[in-house]
Amino acid sequence: MHKVVKVAIDGPVGSGKGTLAVALSKKLNAFYVYTGAMYRALALACLWEKIDIEDEIKVLELLNKISIELEPKEEGIKAFLNGKDVSLEIFKPNISKIASDISAFPKVREEMVLRQKEMVRSSIQKRKSVVVEGRDITTVVIPDADIKIYLTADIKTRAQRRLKQFEKRGISMRLDDVLKDLKDRDEKDTERNASPLRIAKDAVVVDTTNDTVEQTVEKVMRMLKEKYLL
Ligand code: C5P
Repeated sequence: MHKVVKVAIDGPVGSGKGTLAVALSKKLNAFYVYTGAMYRALALACLWEKIDIEDEIKVLELLNKISIELEPKEEGIKAFLNGKDVSLEIFKPNISKIASDISAFPKVREEMVLRQKEMVRSSIQKRKSVVVEGRDITTVVIPDADIKIYLTADIKTRAQRRLKQFEKRGISMRLDDVLKDLKDRDEKDTERNASPLRIAKDAVVVDTTNDTVEQTVEKVMRMLKEKYLL
């Protein structure tokens, strides 16, 4: 019988978390949870409902009213907000900014973490492995993960990757603006009080600056083998 594993990945913007998570979830036949999509979907809902994004209680009330679903697809993950496919909309630059702001609210994080823990629990109960990525996965969402990865890369490489992702989605951006957005979001994620982005003490730091996607995936697969998890 195959082993059921919990893989937790954290890291800053553009470090390659999504790409790694998609590749790993295919190899492990695992359920992929992109937690950033959940904060992004809430940001979009705030915009639709014209919610004051500085009002934590209003944002929380809205979160308690909406459904956010993630559906893994061959090409990545689809996100649904109240049943509507919002997979493209959530990647617009204004949404990234709102997601980053509202994710600093402790009560919002608490509810998101509950939902994410439930996704993990339900997958494991069905004997399906999970690969979860975000900013607080190794520290808060799956503190007992079988393997914890802190993914990183130098800032210019990360900005260039983000720029390419925007181009792929038909959004035209300047490298300088991407770099600024990345610095702002990293700063907010690492400096907020509520579960900031940290390197968990039992996490392995993987720098992807000079590696291809395949090399990074191989590195993590080797780690899993060394831990007898495959
Ligand atoms: O991962 P992604 O960049 O799409 O996430 C969007 C935003 O959501 C991040 O900038 C971060 O502020 C927030 N986030 C978070 N905790 C997570 C996942 C995302 O705070 N677990």
